[in-house]
Order: sequence, then structure tokens, then C-alpha cells
Amino acid sequence: MKPGVLVKYKDFLPVTPETPLFSLGEGDTPLVRCSRLEQEIGCGELYLKLEGCNPTGSFKDRGMVVAIAKALEAGSQTIMCASTGNTSASAAAYAAHCGLSAIIIVPKGNIALGKLTQAIVYEAKIVAINGNFDQALSIVRSLTEKHPVTLVNSVNPHRIEGQKTAAFEIIDVLGNAPDYLFIPVGNAGNITAYWQGFVEYCQAGRASRKPSLMGFQAEGAAPIVRGRVIKKPQTVASAIRIGNPASWQQAVTARDESGGVIDMVSDEEIMAAHRLMATKEGIFGEPASAAPLAGLIKLSQQGMDFSTKQVVCVVTGTGLKDTDVVLKSAQPFLELPADLATVEQALGWG
Ligand SMILES: *Cc1c(COP(=O)(O)O)cnc(C)c1O
Repeated sequence: MKPGVLVKYKDFLPVTPETPLFSLGEGDTPLVRCSRLEQEIGCGELYLKLEGCNPTGSFKDRGMVVAIAKALEAGSQTIMCASTGNTSASAAAYAAHCGLSAIIIVPKGNIALGKLTQAIVYEAKIVAINGNFDQALSIVRSLTEKHPVTLVNSVNPHRIEGQKTAAFEIIDVLGNAPDYLFIPVGNAGNITAYWQGFVEYCQAGRASRKPSLMGFQAEGAAPIVRGRVIKKPQTVASAIRIGNPASWQQAVTARDESGGVIDMVSDEEIMAAHRLMATKEGIFGEPASAAPLAGLIKLSQQGMDFSTKQVVCVVTGTGLKDTDVVLKSAQPFLELPADLATVEQALGWG
């Protein structure tokens, strides 16, 4: 049995004797060496961290297990979040596991079907608003101030605490921090969490260096890059379709303290990287998860030299939740009668 994040890293988490310890199997995700992409890009060592292998298919589970444990410890019976999809999937699953009620607020028509299906199957109370994520979060923040429900968006510090364990795992596997960590930036909680994780592991003597954090937003949803709130964020990568990140300032701090950058990539670059990840390495992430690889390719094409560098890209969520985006642009495939000779001929062996 996998110990899960709460048990494995309890010395680094806000775990007290009263904190309930449980797990759906989150954490301990694969760090896959990608030699074909290394060649393609000209990168010394490239690893993809497969966060889609978490129980609900994204890194959100790492933070959610801690947030839910602390909610239980505090005697809460209901949790609530705004979501572009993965937070609600995770919140609903962990709430079900622990017998809590979950209320989720999502932007109507702007959430990948697989993610919505998860919230439905776990029987969360779902409210779809005619608005975007930023408006949903604002409503949730007001409601959780007024009513006895626990907010489990990443403005809840326990979420960040749990999510930092991904940085610990990278160091545990590689023996030290990599040169660069590439990561998508939406609400900016995850880049904040990784930086906290790298800093804490260094302080604890588990690593002798810290990576530069390379955050990537989508061009149509790049408030940090542009230095202003984006009222109507647009991108194919729904998990980072956010115009006013809650952890904006912390992301800027992570960037500056780590000597990294926060830059942006176009939807075309995101989908090209998405395809490359699948066809060169057999890794199927959701579009937002391809933004880091797109960023690495962009910087490399701009002349940045990664040929002696160790690079980790965080593949934040599985592609199986957002198949529409693939099927919409898919090439037609062969459809034939169930006849040996016909199939053989069509395959060019005729
Ligand atoms: C939530 C999410 C992001 C964005 O993370 P932030 O912490 O909001 O910056 C990126 N990719 C996936 C798959 C996500 O679920």
C-alpha cells in the first residue's frame, strides 16, 4: 500500500496528533526520463513528472488530502471550491472518501467533460455560473467567509503545503534539485508550492541547490507576464484559463528568488507540445500540462542552451479528461469491413 502524502511527508506538513491520516494513493508519481525529447530539443537530461497518475488525475490531490484532513480535524462538515475542473474533481473525491459534503462552483460550459463527470459521480453539489473561474472564486471566497464551510481552493494554505511534496519527490528521486523546473501557471498555487518545497528541502539538508522555476501561462491568459488582470482569459488549456491568479505575488517571488522566468506560450505551441509528448514519449497530458514543454521548446528555439542541463517538466494532469480537444482535430482513421483480405490490402500488404 502506498503511504500517501500525509504519512510519507508528515514531518514537513501541518500534521498534529489530532490530524486524521488517510490516503487515496496520492503522490509518489513517476518521473520519466524522456530521451527522445532530449534529442529533439537538445536537452541534457529531461524528465517529465506525471502528476496525472494521482488518484483523480491531477496534482490537486496532493494538496486536497491535506486540506481535507485539516477540515476534518477542525470539525468541518462541508467543503467548497471554485474550479476549472481538476480542483472540483479532487475535492469531491476526497470529500466522498471522508464523508463530507462538497459544493463546487464551475464556469458554465468551460470545463472539460471528464472533470465534470468526476464531480457528478462523486455526487458533489454542482453550481455552474455564467461567468469565468475568477468570478467563481470570488463568489466562493465570500460565501465561505459568511457560512460554516471550508474553502479548499489553493488560497487555503494547506493546499500549498500538500502540493509542495512534489518538489520533495523530485529531489528524493534525482538525489538533488534539477537545474530547471518548468511548470504551467494558472491560479499560481502550484509554482508557489514547488518553490516552498525546494526551499524547505534545502533548509533540511536534503538538497544542496534549488532549481530555477520556469512558469508558463497561455498567451490569452497571461496576467503575470503582461502585468495586468485579464478580464476575459482565453485559451485551449482550460486549467490555466485564469485572468487574476490568487497567488500572483507568491509566483513572482518564486520566479525572482529562483532566478527563473514567467513567460507565455500560444495555444498552437501548447498543442504542438501536447502532440510531441504523446507521439515521442507516449505521455498523454491535458493541454495545460503541455505548456511547460512548449515553454522549454520556445526558450530553446530562442537560443537558450539546455544541452548540459537537467530539466524537469511537470505534466500536471492526465489527458483523458479532455479528449474533445484531441478528437476535434483528429485525422480520420480507416474504417473497413471485418474481412482479412480487405484489411491486409488497406495496410499495404495486399
Ligand atoms: C490546476 C491546474 C493547473 C494550474 O495550477 P495553478 O496552481 O492554478 O497555477 C495546471 N494544470 C492542471 C492540469 C491543473 O489542474
